[in-house]
Amino acid sequence: MLDRIRTWRRRRIVDRHAPPATLWAEVLDSLPLMTGLSAPARDQLRELATLFMHKVQVVPAEGVMLSERDRWCLAAQACLPILNLGLDWYETCATLVVYPGSFVARHHYRDEAGVEHEDVSPLSGEAWDSGPVVLSWEDAHGAGELDGYNVVIHEFTHKLDMLNGAANGHPPLHADMPGRDWTRAFTTAFEDFTNRVEQDEAPDGLDIYAAESPAEFFAVASESFFELPHRLRALYPAVYQQLSLFYRQTPADRLPS
Ligand SMILES: [Zn+2]
Repeated sequence: MLDRIRTWRRRRIVDRHAPPATLWAEVLDSLPLMTGLSAPARDQLRELATLFMHKVQVVPAEGVMLSERDRWCLAAQACLPILNLGLDWYETCATLVVYPGSFVARHHYRDEAGVEHEDVSPLSGEAWDSGPVVLSWEDAHGAGELDGYNVVIHEFTHKLDMLNGAANGHPPLHADMPGRDWTRAFTTAFEDFTNRVEQDEAPDGLDIYAAESPAEFFAVASESFFELPHRLRALYPAVYQQLSLFYRQTPADRLPS
């Protein structure tokens, strides 16, 4: 019964607030990473984006002007990873803050010796556990090219990773996905990638930032999965396979190699 009520409520939100079909087509056609999505998938993404825009408050910081189309572009990219998972996977996401450019975040942390440090670094995006996602518009505007750099996907996949605790590159997996397969694929690839980065031989297809930590490796590998799937599959086939099972998508089947 509750499910039926929820379905009915969602239906009503979509009927009332979905973007016009022509605008939606323009949005998807302007984003190369959406190339090859089937008509049902484009419709499904439109529904999800509508529910997303209804649930998530988009807050442009001073100096950012977002058009209707800009907002739908952000929603479309944010929802691509959950296209076959559903909006419940973003249950902890209520606010999306958009800064004009990269922003400075201050983080305090205590090292193993108990010394307090302050880390101040410029960021293009940030995702808070049970809090907002923050994006730099300078970086998010132009995202969606097939270059393996997508700050929208990056930050929202951190939200998926945080569903079962602090981000560690191990989001909650589906019941038919053995955790050991995920761990083996990602641990092996992360070790190989960090070794190659240390030797100044970072391979094409994954941004070097993936070497930062297992959490960043998962987020950066997800960017590549949706934008450079052929390269990711050639580089780390087991990672591509695990991400396919997790996202329930095979972008290499629809994007040009
Ligand atoms: Zn990150």
